[in-house]
Amino acid sequence: MQKQTLQNTDVHGKRVIVRVDFNVPMSNGKISDDNRIRAALPTIQHLRDNGARVILCSHFGRPNGIVEETSRLGPIAEGLGKVLGTPVIYAQECIGPIANSAVAALSPGEVLLLENVRFHPGEEQNEPAFAKALASLADLYVNDAFGTAHRAHASTAGITNYLPAVSGFLMQRELEMLSSVLDNPRRPLAAVMGGAKVSDKIAVLENLLGKIDKLIIGGGMVATFIKAMGAPVGDSLLEVERVSFAQEVITRCTHWTVELVLPQDVVVARDFSPDAPSQVVNAMEIPDGWRIMDIGPESAASFIEELETCKSVLWNGPMGVFEFPAFSHGTRLIGQTLAAMTDAVTIVGGGSTAEAVADLGLVDKMTHVSTGGGASLEFFEGKELPGIAALMDK
Ligand code: AMP
Repeated sequence: MQKQTLQNTDVHGKRVIVRVDFNVPMSNGKISDDNRIRAALPTIQHLRDNGARVILCSHFGRPNGIVEETSRLGPIAEGLGKVLGTPVIYAQECIGPIANSAVAALSPGEVLLLENVRFHPGEEQNEPAFAKALASLADLYVNDAFGTAHRAHASTAGITNYLPAVSGFLMQRELEMLSSVLDNPRRPLAAVMGGAKVSDKIAVLENLLGKIDKLIIGGGMVATFIKAMGAPVGDSLLEVERVSFAQEVITRCTHWTVELVLPQDVVVARDFSPDAPSQVVNAMEIPDGWRIMDIGPESAASFIEELETCKSVLWNGPMGVFEFPAFSHGTRLIGQTLAAMTDAVTIVGGGSTAEAVADLGLVDKMTHVSTGGGASLEFFEGKELPGIAALMDK
């Protein structure tokens, strides 16, 4: 079901509360990566340009329902002010008298950032009294926090019981991009799956298998597939209880004519460390005492060849332990290949894959890099996300 968006909503003179995801990385009290703040700018700027009183709310860290001085949003208000080029008012509370008077003093076009909503236990418990108190600050609710849309919290779900609720531009783009590749993709459509474990991706694989033309598998989860084919995996990360699921995936790919592409060679190391001795071996012949850390050069070449014939690619999970430079080649090559496929739709699931793409400086070269890790995973699992379900239908 399509959701109402900010695009066709009258905001003039209204008090608009926007749930953003300003859970940005910080070091020494300073924002070290402001991408999440920049991602919310189109919504904030649209509201300012159209004479709304802009009230932003967000969580930051995991203060677990108590005030934690290091999780205050003051530095984020300052950082946002710099990016916006106008001061942002900061209220040291998100409900109650301090928040009420900050909102009452807001003029059209001004921006206020409320204190961390997770200082209140009612936020994560989706408590009606807390949701109602937040809602009482505004006339309209906008959800632009895709990264927390998989959580039914007061500021993502409960609040919509008390205010008309629409999606912001970031949320709208996430939904359009992620749904386009699942519902109506240009074909062939490939899913490149990686990351540490099969168990994290079972529901995604279940949902995608009926939709994709090719399934390319790398990362730590390869070991479980190799085991399913009866070959040794040495000391690799093996999920014994998932071997039968891997076998089922292999069988289903054959029945459903999904082309399954597994690595022919892998980079294995003696131990899990950045400078561990390593070698390239045949994926079916992993020696005892060695563990998979990356896909090998032959695998990368065949993955690239398969990808280059695709019109849509969904990438979720790095090809190896990309945090260690020696084992980041597979992930880099896949990233560079997708970046160069300017004719194809390339969608990168959030979390560690988005991090890897950002490290490679390739974010702008992809059609879309999701801002939500857990949220994008649940979306690809085909689940309805509470923060999206709660918005008004079109
Ligand atoms: P995920 O969040 O499930 O996509 O997993 C990402 C993590 O998988 C990253 O931190 C990688 O270091 C890790 N990973 C990828 N390949 C391997 C591997 N062969 N062995 C262990 N961990 C891996």
